[in-house]
Amino acid sequence: MKAVRFTNWKTFPELKEIDRPTPGPGEVLLKVAGAGACHSDVAIFQDYDADFPVAHFLGPEYTLGHENSGWIEELGEGVTGLKKGDAYLIYGPIGCGHCRSCSRGQDTYCDNVAEMPYMGMGLGRDGGMAEYIVAPARNLVPLGDADPVEAAPLADAGLTPYHAIKTSMRQLEGGGKFALVIGLGGLGQLGVQMLKALTGATVIATDMKADAMAMAERNGAITVEGGPDQAAKIRELTGGRGVDAVFDFVGVKPTVEVAQQVVARRGRITVVGIAGGKVEWDFYTNPYEAELTNTYWGTIEDLYDVADLYRAGLIKPEVTVYPMDKALDAYQDLVDGKVSGRAVVAP
Ligand code: NAD
Ligand code: ZN
Repeated sequence: MKAVRFTNWKTFPELKEIDRPTPGPGEVLLKVAGAGACHSDVAIFQDYDADFPVAHFLGPEYTLGHENSGWIEELGEGVTGLKKGDAYLIYGPIGCGHCRSCSRGQDTYCDNVAEMPYMGMGLGRDGGMAEYIVAPARNLVPLGDADPVEAAPLADAGLTPYHAIKTSMRQLEGGGKFALVIGLGGLGQLGVQMLKALTGATVIATDMKADAMAMAERNGAITVEGGPDQAAKIRELTGGRGVDAVFDFVGVKPTVEVAQQVVARRGRITVVGIAGGKVEWDFYTNPYEAELTNTYWGTIEDLYDVADLYRAGLIKPEVTVYPMDKALDAYQDLVDGKVSGRAVVAP
């Protein structure tokens, strides 16, 4: 079968012919419906090297794609209650499965992560940019009769903002609240949609690209362009009080600094983008009780919620579909900043 392989650090992926995998005990083989191209993959093949802190989980060679959906093709030993042909989202993180964090479905924060051989599907272990994928049966979240190709981004570009928003609910509950979304790509666009669907907050959004801002406006956000007076303009929109919950889907120093300049007292900044920007913090300039935190992906249960939001018509990934032969173009377009919403490879 064809697969998009991460072959070495600082090396653009390759489309290769590899053997179709077979499911082991407790696993399932799925025919891939869709695999989203996430910006984290660009970090893996373009920015990281063997010295990066998490490189030992992510070293080559394997099939990329950690944001996947598919139809069940074959059940591994001991798997019951699942049926060939049914459509599922695949929860990508894989923890030890038996620690406190994994027990609540939060494999992302596995207590035994240091002993794991990989972070998840498409992250050290073969992912979904291929015709078939093997996943643990526990990681499947049912899609019912929803379109699994369009749904594929929910597994990361949906799940990650959902978890970030859910952990900021104290800031977003009640009337008259403000949210800010920085970075309106795959994650940010779904973040805007979820904030509109789940909270009464006024959603302010920003990106460097005009088409990304236009898409966010269509989904109900008020947009503010970048520039030296950006923070002042955002604060003005909040009547001077500041933003209750900021979501930074970029994470460079300048975006986190804007977040710090606009956050309200008792507000919360969640850095989701992995660019690693370092900022300063001091008692006198931090608004009282304003929090600065980060989140990583989400829980299995969160993914059930995200699938329900999609099936209820409350969120809808805006996707560009690439056939398997054009899978590398999906990553090239992402690198070049040419993707609006999410690029999905549908083999
Ligand atoms: P994307 O490429 O689809 O979107 C990024 C958007 O940010 C683009 O629209 C781009 O124009 C915009 N942007 C870039 N620099 C900007 C700046 N300085 N100011 C304003 N806008 C800017 O990326 P994505 O797949 O949505 O991922 C977003 C980030 O989240 C990446 O860093 C990715 O690695 C990370 N990520 C984190 C997690 C997590 O669990 N924490 C999960 C998935 C992705
Ligand atoms: Zn991702």
